[in-house]
Amino acid sequence: MSTVRHNPHAVPQAAPAKSFGEAFTRHFAVYGYTRRAVELVWNTNYRLAIILGLLTLAAGLLPAAMAWVGKLIVDGVVGQIDLVKGGAAPDYWAVLQLVVLEGGIIALLNAAQRGINACQSLLRAQLGFRVNEMILEKALTLDLAQFEDAEFYDKLLRARREASSRPLSLVMRSFALVQQLISLISFSILIAQFSIWAMVLLIVAGLPAFVAETKFSGDAFRLFRFRAPEAREQNYLEIVLAREDHAKEVKLFGLGPLMLKRYKDIFLKVYAEDRALTLRREGWGLALTLIGTLALYGAYAWIVIAAIDTSITLGEMTMYLLLFRQGQGAVSAGLGSIGGMYEDNLYLTNLYEYLEQEPQAGAGIETKGPHPEDGIRFEHVSFTYPDAPAATLTDINLHVKPGESLALVGENGAGKSTLIKLLCGFYEPDSGKVMVHGRDVREWEPEALHRCIGVIFQDFNKYQFTVGENIGAGDVEGFDDEARWADAATKGMAQPFVDKLPWGFKTQLGSWFKGGKELSTGQWQKVALSRAFMRSKAEVLVLDEPTAAMDAAAEAELFEYFREHTQGKITVLISHRFSTVRQADQIAVLDEGRIIEFGGHDELLAQDGVYARLFLLQAEGYR
Ligand code: ADP
Repeated sequence: MSTVRHNPHAVPQAAPAKSFGEAFTRHFAVYGYTRRAVELVWNTNYRLAIILGLLTLAAGLLPAAMAWVGKLIVDGVVGQIDLVKGGAAPDYWAVLQLVVLEGGIIALLNAAQRGINACQSLLRAQLGFRVNEMILEKALTLDLAQFEDAEFYDKLLRARREASSRPLSLVMRSFALVQQLISLISFSILIAQFSIWAMVLLIVAGLPAFVAETKFSGDAFRLFRFRAPEAREQNYLEIVLAREDHAKEVKLFGLGPLMLKRYKDIFLKVYAEDRALTLRREGWGLALTLIGTLALYGAYAWIVIAAIDTSITLGEMTMYLLLFRQGQGAVSAGLGSIGGMYEDNLYLTNLYEYLEQEPQAGAGIETKGPHPEDGIRFEHVSFTYPDAPAATLTDINLHVKPGESLALVGENGAGKSTLIKLLCGFYEPDSGKVMVHGRDVREWEPEALHRCIGVIFQDFNKYQFTVGENIGAGDVEGFDDEARWADAATKGMAQPFVDKLPWGFKTQLGSWFKGGKELSTGQWQKVALSRAFMRSKAEVLVLDEPTAAMDAAAEAELFEYFREHTQGKITVLISHRFSTVRQADQIAVLDEGRIIEFGGHDELLAQDGVYARLFLLQAEGYR
């Protein structure tokens, strides 16, 4: 759960800009992502992008054409009325063909709009998928350390939550803006014939609304960004309250109401902030729209007077009124687009911040070590977790050759699992070296290193897949290989219970999907062990307490069996059971990140130190 706390009343603010120039650059720099969003669409489906562009152009030009034809119709009618008043026969067709023309234009405009909607729907699905794929692909390349970093996790969460819908939104808004601009330019050309000042009025009346829109969009984004820890906490509470694996304990301990209250408190706090922003945004929006309306009706009055003074025709009056009303609409829609783009752009900043995250540990390129016979070696290794106050491992020296086994013993938190994480290259030591096959782990290409090492962690993954796939997960190349599942299951002692499952290896596990079977902890551990046996090519096998749910005798028997089936390999075992530990060739006793005793079982007993004391204590218990 989030441990990041902050002052709930602080209003998120960017540092004030030092100069107008800086404010200007900063303001418009955020629009820079528009280009990337358009690129994204182009790469996703360029045909749709082209069609969308053409339709946008049409939708931008047609309204002005319509207004122009409207003027021709009114002037035509007025002309015909004059003819009738003069006693001549009217030419109906002369005007009616214009009506047909306008009908045609509006049909085209509708078609263009529909086409734009269709493109948008198609792009939404494709783009949403593409962006999620990019996010997940990136997640595969990142370090474990980054996943364990709260700030990074926030970035991932923000990227996932919004960004799959934002790129489309940004693109649609950019296109809409272009469409409105084209309309505005064509309107302006027509209006300028009446008065340049009328054109200026049209544009200027919308400006305050734009400034307000941009400001509030920025505020909304900062609020959203600032709130990531709360969102994370809420997410977590949802999981605890509503997921099978937590339900048992939550019910038993009666934690439900307490957690629900926490959940509610977060909502109330967040809601208060949202409400304040919404009220401010809409209040200002209303005031500034009123200014726009005032300008519009001022222009109206002006045009009406001009028509009465006969300085413009009736047809021109109709056209100008229409252009003004539509122009106002286009200005505010355009400004709305810009405000929205600002928001989308800010959200996209998150996405790209996440996508541009570099893995911290520079990955090596070597796929082999020069001395496979050297096994694994820790030389004066010290390590501190990021932001941890003290070192977790200090001056660790170990050497295990192929065919040997090593057991790590020590209290919880002594650093045993951390040592394994360093061996896997998940973290880099602060000082010293971890060597595999005579090569520094940092120089190894991660995939090649991981092919060498098979680890079953204490908290191994329980995939909601079939039993067979859960075993197959130990080796991607054998993921679907039923013969290898059976072989590994036999070695990992899972075969007897798998045979009793309704569909054998094809039985779905977990409760997420229909027909899923739940396994007992002991059965899961056998699945995990079988997974370890799938890694037949790995030369180092690590068991980090995956057998804790078995009884001591079963564990000891299992390890003996494990040793027999992994001849010539290195096995590393973490266990609290001395009946198992004593079988290892070498035993390292860890205390607060240091190796305090090292040697074979008999040797350590003879030393009569910590190991001997703990061993005798446990032996006592079994007597
Ligand atoms: P062991 O496996 O011996 O029980 P660990 O290696 O898991 O011990 O942990 C050693 C110490 O490192 C503990 O104090 C633990 O709190 C700390 N630690 C473990 N994992 C992390 C992590 N991801 N970030 C920060 N500290 C950690």
